[in-house]
Amino acid sequence: SRTLSSTAMPPIFDKPTVEKYDLVLIGGGSGGSGCSRRAASYGKKVAVVEMTGILGGTCVNVGCVPKKIMWHAADLQEKFTHHARGYQIKGEAIPKFDWTTFKPQRDAYIRKLNGIYASNFEKEGVEHHHGFGRLTSANAVEVTRPDGQKYTLQTDNICIATGGQPVIPSDDEIPGASLGIDSDGFFALEEQPKRVAVVGAGYIAVELAGVFNALGSETHIIIRKENVLRTFDPSLQEVLTPWMEKTGVNVHRSSKVVKVVGEKGKTLTITTDKGETIEVDCLLWAVGRKSLTANMGLEELGVKLNPKGDIIVDEYQNSNVKGITAIGDVQGKALLTPVAVAAGRRLSNRLFGPPQFKDDKLSYDDIPTVVFSHPTIGTTGLTEPQAREKYGDDVKIYKTSFRSLYFSMIDEEHKEPSMFKVVCVGSEERVVGIHIIGAGSDEMMQGFAVAVKMKARKKDLDDTVAIHPTSAEELVTLR
Ligand code: FAD
Ligand code: NDP
Repeated sequence: SRTLSSTAMPPIFDKPTVEKYDLVLIGGGSGGSGCSRRAASYGKKVAVVEMTGILGGTCVNVGCVPKKIMWHAADLQEKFTHHARGYQIKGEAIPKFDWTTFKPQRDAYIRKLNGIYASNFEKEGVEHHHGFGRLTSANAVEVTRPDGQKYTLQTDNICIATGGQPVIPSDDEIPGASLGIDSDGFFALEEQPKRVAVVGAGYIAVELAGVFNALGSETHIIIRKENVLRTFDPSLQEVLTPWMEKTGVNVHRSSKVVKVVGEKGKTLTITTDKGETIEVDCLLWAVGRKSLTANMGLEELGVKLNPKGDIIVDEYQNSNVKGITAIGDVQGKALLTPVAVAAGRRLSNRLFGPPQFKDDKLSYDDIPTVVFSHPTIGTTGLTEPQAREKYGDDVKIYKTSFRSLYFSMIDEEHKEPSMFKVVCVGSEERVVGIHIIGAGSDEMMQGFAVAVKMKARKKDLDDTVAIHPTSAEELVTLR
């Protein structure tokens, strides 16, 4: 259920143009684009089947891109509201974000990106077929067009890149749950809700609750445990959760929603298992995503799925059925855009590239990632508990907590925390994990992820001259 409508774009194909394709992809998101364009760059005949008729998938339409734009808006609003005066930037009224006028502007940018994706396909000769893709054999993808007509694309290589969709609990499980929206619904909101409750403690819950709060909505986050981001390094959880609370987010800990009553778009009353009632204008579920693998003929062909419905693949992205591969979110590991793109490109390198790529595959180790919270988080490699489990007493932790110089001019109340942690192993202190929170962490992480990937030692960090005055220098001056 994409929330954006299609605009005039390069041609969309509605029948096969060759008897047999070199590669047919199902899904025109991050993975589908990366994989198809790389294959086409080797002169291969490639078709991408996309059911929405819009390219870019989750990331472009209802994920990374519009989310990051909203994060920038929220970040700017925070600076106007809480920081500008500290720098003697004065004025009568604090400028205020206007959701209603911003939403169409953001949508227009996304439509532009959709067009860029489409023209890139056209330039590189990748065919975009608009329809639902289903496997009728290991060599045939049936496309059901929006008008119901069907046709088949023949190929020896089918790659499934269908991603996933957000999950909302059923009304049987939680009466009234369907009165809430999910992250797709967030991007469809025409107006800013005055009061909002977000359920969940993962990436999406933290990021969207942060946006609402910074933009001035009364924000509640309902989490099952004590802290947000339970799978992240504990030190990150312990800094972010109380800071969210301090900046105005109502954190409902160890709480589960048991009932929702009211009318969608109007007032909703949420009851938790602690007997608390929370009245809001919008309820947003951010309790995870589910792979889109249903009704695609996969079970009939014997393609193995895990109990969650993700396609099980080996390290080369192969499913258990010859000629059928899967990349991106649908394979259930590391649900991130650059992972889908990199896995897709490497798969095409392996299948169609020059001989030096005949074993190409993506390493899923040390994948860096950022949470666009307030402040942001950057992380790569093993968390402290993961390292201790793997290496026992061989683990050494370097950690610092500080305030960035930026906050020196800002009142005590709004000085954001920074915490940097480096996880090292063995006598040579090889760096196996870096976990940072604080202003600028999002932009800092990429370079340090290179160091971890190259198996840097603590000494290599120490031997690198600091860049002053920055927050990043703390990572090369840890004692
Ligand atoms: P998708 O991008 O979901 O593409 C799958 C495509 O397949 C869709 O277009 C779908 O319509 C199509 N499709 C599905 N079934 C069929 C079918 N049977 N026939 C035809 N077409 C079909 N990642 C980051 O790295 N950074 C971020 O900041 C970030 N933020 C995010 C924020 C949100 C709110 C969300 C939801 C996700 C975010 N992600 C982020 C994750 C990122 O969006 C995904 O990891 C990425 O989009 C996965 O790419 P994909 O190609 O596997 O799937
Ligand atoms: P996550 O897997 O990150 O988080 C799901 C959350 O839902 C967990 O905190 C979990 O809680 C909670 N949860 C699950 N079931 C329930 C329930 N019944 N009641 C209450 N809480 C529940 O998924 P998201 O949907 O947030 O994001 C999906 C993926 O998309 C992410 O894993 C990430 O890979 C990607 N993404 C990346 C972003 C980025 O790179 N910045 C941004 C957004 C998404 P608990 O912790 O208690 O188990």
